[in-house]
Amino acid sequence: MILAIDGPAASGKGTLGKRLAAHYRLRHLDTGLLYRAVARAMLDGGYSLDDVPRAVAAARQLDPARFDEQALKTHALGGAASVVSAIPQVREALFALQRSFAAAPPGAVLDGRDIGTVICPDADVKIVVTAAPEVRARRRAAEMRAAGTTVDERDILADILRRDERDSNRPVAPLVAAADAILLDTTCLDIEAAVSAAIAIVERARR
Ligand code: C5P
Repeated sequence: MILAIDGPAASGKGTLGKRLAAHYRLRHLDTGLLYRAVARAMLDGGYSLDDVPRAVAAARQLDPARFDEQALKTHALGGAASVVSAIPQVREALFALQRSFAAAPPGAVLDGRDIGTVICPDADVKIVVTAAPEVRARRRAAEMRAAGTTVDERDILADILRRDERDSNRPVAPLVAAADAILLDTTCLDIEAAVSAAIAIVERARR
Protein backbone atom coordinates (compact mmCIF):
# COMPACT_ATOMS: atom_id res chain seq x y z
CA MET A 1 0.00 0.00 0.00
CA ILE A 2 1.23 3.50 -0.84
CA LEU A 3 -0.18 6.49 1.07
CA ALA A 4 0.44 9.99 -0.30
CA ILE A 5 0.14 12.83 2.21
CA ASP A 6 0.49 16.36 0.88
CA GLY A 7 -0.03 19.71 2.54
CA PRO A 8 1.40 23.13 3.29
CA ALA A 9 4.00 24.07 5.90
CA ALA A 10 3.13 23.16 9.49
CA SER A 11 -0.14 21.50 8.50
CA GLY A 12 0.72 18.42 10.56
CA LYS A 13 1.32 16.17 7.57
CA GLY A 14 4.70 15.00 8.89
CA THR A 15 3.27 13.81 12.20
CA LEU A 16 0.33 12.22 10.40
CA GLY A 17 2.71 10.51 7.97
CA LYS A 18 4.73 9.04 10.84
CA ARG A 19 1.64 7.89 12.73
CA LEU A 20 0.02 6.33 9.64
CA ALA A 21 3.26 4.51 8.82
CA ALA A 22 3.41 3.08 12.36
CA HIS A 23 -0.27 2.12 12.27
CA TYR A 24 -0.04 0.28 8.92
CA ARG A 25 3.57 -0.95 9.42
CA LEU A 26 4.81 0.87 6.34
CA ARG A 27 8.06 2.75 5.80
CA HIS A 28 7.88 6.53 5.95
CA LEU A 29 9.65 9.22 3.93
CA ASP A 30 9.32 12.88 4.86
CA THR A 31 10.27 14.26 1.43
CA GLY A 32 10.63 17.80 2.82
CA LEU A 33 13.85 16.56 4.43
CA LEU A 34 15.34 15.99 0.97
CA TYR A 35 14.84 19.62 -0.05
CA ARG A 36 15.94 20.80 3.38
CA ALA A 37 19.16 18.76 3.06
CA VAL A 38 19.88 20.30 -0.36
CA ALA A 39 19.35 23.78 1.12
CA ARG A 40 21.60 22.90 4.09
CA ALA A 41 24.38 21.73 1.76
CA MET A 42 24.12 24.95 -0.27
CA LEU A 43 24.25 27.18 2.80
CA ASP A 44 27.11 25.18 4.36
CA GLY A 45 29.06 25.44 1.10
CA GLY A 46 28.47 29.21 0.94
CA TYR A 47 26.59 28.92 -2.37
CA SER A 48 23.66 31.01 -3.47
CA LEU A 49 20.37 29.07 -3.22
CA ASP A 50 19.65 29.73 -6.89
CA ASP A 51 22.96 28.27 -8.13
CA VAL A 52 21.37 25.52 -10.25
CA PRO A 53 24.43 23.31 -11.02
CA ARG A 54 25.50 23.35 -7.34
CA ALA A 55 21.98 22.59 -6.15
CA VAL A 56 21.66 19.68 -8.59
CA ALA A 57 25.04 18.31 -7.49
CA ALA A 58 23.94 18.59 -3.84
CA ALA A 59 20.68 16.76 -4.63
CA ARG A 60 22.56 13.94 -6.38
CA GLN A 61 24.90 13.49 -3.42
CA LEU A 62 22.22 13.22 -0.73
CA ASP A 63 22.37 10.26 1.61
CA PRO A 64 19.03 10.12 3.50
CA ALA A 65 20.46 7.43 5.81
CA ARG A 66 22.76 10.10 7.26
CA PHE A 67 20.16 12.85 7.75
CA ASP A 68 20.10 14.61 11.11
CA GLU A 69 16.33 15.14 11.14
CA GLN A 70 16.34 17.54 14.08
CA ALA A 71 18.96 19.78 12.50
CA LEU A 72 17.10 19.79 9.18
CA LYS A 73 13.70 20.57 10.67
CA THR A 74 14.40 24.20 11.63
CA HIS A 75 11.94 26.88 10.60
CA ALA A 76 14.60 28.89 8.73
CA LEU A 77 15.69 25.92 6.65
CA GLY A 78 12.07 25.45 5.53
CA GLY A 79 12.22 28.78 3.71
CA ALA A 80 15.56 27.95 2.09
CA ALA A 81 14.23 24.52 1.07
CA SER A 82 11.29 26.19 -0.60
CA VAL A 83 13.72 28.19 -2.79
CA VAL A 84 15.80 25.20 -3.95
CA SER A 85 12.69 23.05 -4.39
CA ALA A 86 11.41 25.44 -7.08
CA ILE A 87 14.37 24.47 -9.30
CA PRO A 88 13.01 21.85 -11.74
CA GLN A 89 16.40 20.10 -12.13
CA VAL A 90 16.61 19.62 -8.34
CA ARG A 91 13.17 18.00 -8.32
CA GLU A 92 14.22 15.80 -11.23
CA ALA A 93 17.40 14.74 -9.39
CA LEU A 94 15.31 13.65 -6.37
CA PHE A 95 12.57 11.90 -8.35
CA ALA A 96 14.05 8.38 -8.67
CA LEU A 97 14.99 8.19 -4.99
CA GLN A 98 11.40 8.97 -3.94
CA ARG A 99 9.87 6.61 -6.51
CA SER A 100 12.02 3.67 -5.52
CA PHE A 101 11.36 4.32 -1.83
CA ALA A 102 7.62 4.18 -2.54
CA ALA A 103 7.84 1.10 -4.74
CA ALA A 104 9.80 -1.14 -2.33
CA PRO A 105 7.67 -3.66 -0.41
CA PRO A 106 5.61 -3.60 1.74
CA GLY A 107 4.77 -0.05 0.63
CA ALA A 108 5.24 3.34 2.19
CA VAL A 109 3.83 6.60 3.41
CA LEU A 110 5.37 9.64 1.73
CA ASP A 111 4.59 13.18 2.76
CA GLY A 112 5.35 16.36 0.87
CA ARG A 113 3.80 18.70 -1.67
CA ASP A 114 3.68 16.70 -4.93
CA ILE A 115 3.36 13.11 -3.75
CA GLY A 116 -0.18 12.52 -5.00
CA THR A 117 0.34 14.48 -8.21
CA VAL A 118 3.91 13.72 -9.39
CA ILE A 119 5.79 11.17 -7.27
CA CYS A 120 3.02 8.61 -6.64
CA PRO A 121 0.08 9.48 -8.90
CA ASP A 122 -1.11 5.86 -8.47
CA ALA A 123 -1.00 5.92 -4.65
CA ASP A 124 -3.71 3.80 -3.01
CA VAL A 125 -4.85 6.72 -0.87
CA LYS A 126 -4.10 10.42 -1.25
CA ILE A 127 -4.74 12.85 1.57
CA VAL A 128 -4.24 16.60 1.43
CA VAL A 129 -3.86 17.98 4.95
CA THR A 130 -4.79 21.61 5.48
CA ALA A 131 -5.26 23.99 8.40
CA ALA A 132 -5.85 27.73 8.65
CA PRO A 133 -2.55 29.64 8.34
CA GLU A 134 -3.03 31.26 11.77
CA VAL A 135 -3.45 27.85 13.38
CA ARG A 136 -0.37 26.52 11.60
CA ALA A 137 1.63 29.54 12.77
CA ARG A 138 0.42 29.01 16.33
CA ARG A 139 1.42 25.34 16.27
CA ARG A 140 4.85 26.08 14.78
CA ALA A 141 5.47 28.89 17.30
CA ALA A 142 4.48 26.56 20.18
CA GLU A 143 6.92 23.91 18.90
CA MET A 144 9.71 26.47 18.71
CA ARG A 145 8.96 27.86 22.17
CA ALA A 146 8.97 24.33 23.57
CA ALA A 147 12.45 23.94 22.05
CA GLY A 148 13.58 27.09 23.87
CA THR A 149 13.46 29.58 20.97
CA THR A 150 11.95 33.03 21.43
CA VAL A 151 9.50 33.63 18.58
CA ASP A 152 7.03 36.22 17.39
CA GLU A 153 3.99 34.39 16.02
CA ARG A 154 3.38 37.19 13.48
CA ASP A 155 6.81 36.57 11.93
CA ILE A 156 6.10 32.85 11.74
CA LEU A 157 2.73 33.54 10.08
CA ALA A 158 4.40 35.84 7.52
CA ASP A 159 7.02 33.14 6.74
CA ILE A 160 4.31 30.49 6.38
CA LEU A 161 2.26 32.65 4.01
CA ARG A 162 5.37 33.44 1.93
CA ARG A 163 6.22 29.73 1.73
CA ASP A 164 2.59 28.79 0.84
CA GLU A 165 2.69 31.35 -1.94
CA ARG A 166 6.00 30.08 -3.35
CA ASP A 167 5.09 26.38 -3.05
CA SER A 168 1.62 26.83 -4.57
CA ASN A 169 2.53 29.07 -7.49
CA ARG A 170 5.78 27.62 -8.82
CA PRO A 171 5.51 26.30 -12.37
CA VAL A 172 6.86 22.81 -11.56
CA ALA A 173 5.12 20.44 -9.11
CA PRO A 174 3.18 23.12 -7.22
CA LEU A 175 1.22 22.19 -4.11
CA VAL A 176 -2.17 21.37 -5.60
CA ALA A 177 -4.59 18.65 -4.56
CA ALA A 178 -4.78 15.69 -6.94
CA ALA A 179 -8.29 15.26 -8.33
CA ASP A 180 -8.69 12.03 -6.33
CA ALA A 181 -7.22 13.36 -3.06
CA ILE A 182 -9.30 13.59 0.09
CA LEU A 183 -9.06 16.82 2.05
CA LEU A 184 -8.39 16.65 5.79
CA ASP A 185 -8.75 20.02 7.51
CA THR A 186 -7.03 19.86 10.90
CA THR A 187 -7.81 23.46 11.93
CA CYS A 188 -10.07 22.30 14.76
CA LEU A 189 -8.46 18.91 15.41
CA ASP A 190 -5.75 17.96 17.87
CA ILE A 191 -3.19 15.41 16.75
CA GLU A 192 -5.08 12.34 18.04
CA ALA A 193 -8.30 13.45 16.34
CA ALA A 194 -6.38 14.13 13.12
CA VAL A 195 -4.76 10.66 13.22
CA SER A 196 -8.16 9.02 13.75
CA ALA A 197 -9.64 11.01 10.88
CA ALA A 198 -6.74 10.04 8.59
CA ILE A 199 -7.09 6.34 9.48
CA ALA A 200 -10.83 6.57 8.78
CA ILE A 201 -10.05 8.06 5.34
CA VAL A 202 -7.61 5.23 4.56
CA GLU A 203 -10.08 2.57 5.72
CA ARG A 204 -12.90 4.05 3.62
CA ALA A 205 -10.64 4.24 0.56
CA ARG A 206 -9.52 0.61 1.00
CA ARG A 207 -13.08 -0.73 1.16
O1 C5P B 1 7.53 19.74 4.35
P1 C5P B 1 8.59 20.72 4.71
O2 C5P B 1 8.05 21.97 5.30
O3 C5P B 1 9.71 20.13 5.50
O4 C5P B 1 9.24 21.12 3.30
C1 C5P B 1 10.19 22.14 3.15
C2 C5P B 1 10.05 22.72 1.76
O5 C5P B 1 10.45 21.73 0.80
C3 C5P B 1 8.63 23.11 1.35
O6 C5P B 1 8.30 24.43 1.69
C4 C5P B 1 8.62 22.90 -0.15
O7 C5P B 1 9.07 24.05 -0.82
C5 C5P B 1 9.65 21.81 -0.36
N1 C5P B 1 9.04 20.52 -0.67
C6 C5P B 1 8.64 20.30 -1.96
N2 C5P B 1 8.14 19.10 -2.32
C7 C5P B 1 8.01 18.12 -1.43
C8 C5P B 1 8.38 18.34 -0.07
C9 C5P B 1 8.87 19.57 0.29
O8 C5P B 1 8.74 21.18 -2.82
N3 C5P B 1 7.54 16.94 -1.83
